[in-house]
Amino acid sequence: IMSSPLTFQPVLDRIAAEIGQTPDRGHPADYIPALAACDPHRFGMAVAELDGTVYGVGDWRQPFSTQSLTKVFTLALDLAREADELWEHVGREPSGNPFNSLVQLEYENGIPRNPFINAGALVVTDRLHSQTGDAAGTLLDFLRAESGNDGLAINEDVAASESAHGDRNAALGHFMASYGNIRNPVPVLLDEYFRQCSVEASCADLALATGFLARHGIRADGSRLLTMSQAKQVNAVMLTCGTYDAAGEFAYRVGLPGKSGVGGGVIAVVPGRCTLCVWSPGLDEHGNSVAGVTALDRFTTITGLSVF
Ligand code: GLN
Repeated sequence: IMSSPLTFQPVLDRIAAEIGQTPDRGHPADYIPALAACDPHRFGMAVAELDGTVYGVGDWRQPFSTQSLTKVFTLALDLAREADELWEHVGREPSGNPFNSLVQLEYENGIPRNPFINAGALVVTDRLHSQTGDAAGTLLDFLRAESGNDGLAINEDVAASESAHGDRNAALGHFMASYGNIRNPVPVLLDEYFRQCSVEASCADLALATGFLARHGIRADGSRLLTMSQAKQVNAVMLTCGTYDAAGEFAYRVGLPGKSGVGGGVIAVVPGRCTLCVWSPGLDEHGNSVAGVTALDRFTTITGLSVF
């Protein structure tokens, strides 16, 4: 198992070289034009240490569409405010279904299986919006502070496109509202959710912003966002639910808490040690970055750094 942090750069260089030899990259998400236009051969990877030192390779400073990666941050931001009350409105079991599935909601009284499928993320964003009056703005402020990058922004064109193609998320929102599990007007919630999905950030930004989960709840400025046990909870839900109906395979291959987004990003946490973010826009059939998961698999295999 690696002990010297100085050895991260050669590890990243080696992984990027290996990925460069891999022809099969999957296909970019095609439900909105902005994502469909991404080149699946783009690849970036960053590792951030607990003190904010960052190593990177390839397109690691290129901003991309964060999409469902933001579900980790909204969960943490709401948990910090509501604590266990949140878990009365969203579960924490893997769903075994695709990220945008509706099927389990009817049997479970409008309570989504977990906060990382779309239904669960909508509940979390709804609650964060009630707590703060500005869910997407609260998220953006947090990401800027943790990454040290004030330039982070929402791509409003992507948000408009999400909205124009948002029938399924609208259906999820209205269906859960019929069970009383949504507090804001559904159109208000959807607007916040689509703007949240449309935040753009780089691997470097996101590896840094995820740092609080490796520091057991402590933010970049040394203040506490989550209790130690809440940070453990978020990491555990990432491990079991962060890559949807492929979470078992991700845990088997990578062995770390991780979260994917359809923009091709994947974040991962080595508690007590470092955080990672990989970006490559080509996805597999579950919506997870093909090269991203492979790169994380290689990282934990080469370094021995996993939670197991
Ligand atoms: N905007 C996407 C959606 O809501 C996010 C999904 C994802 O990244 N898995 O469908």
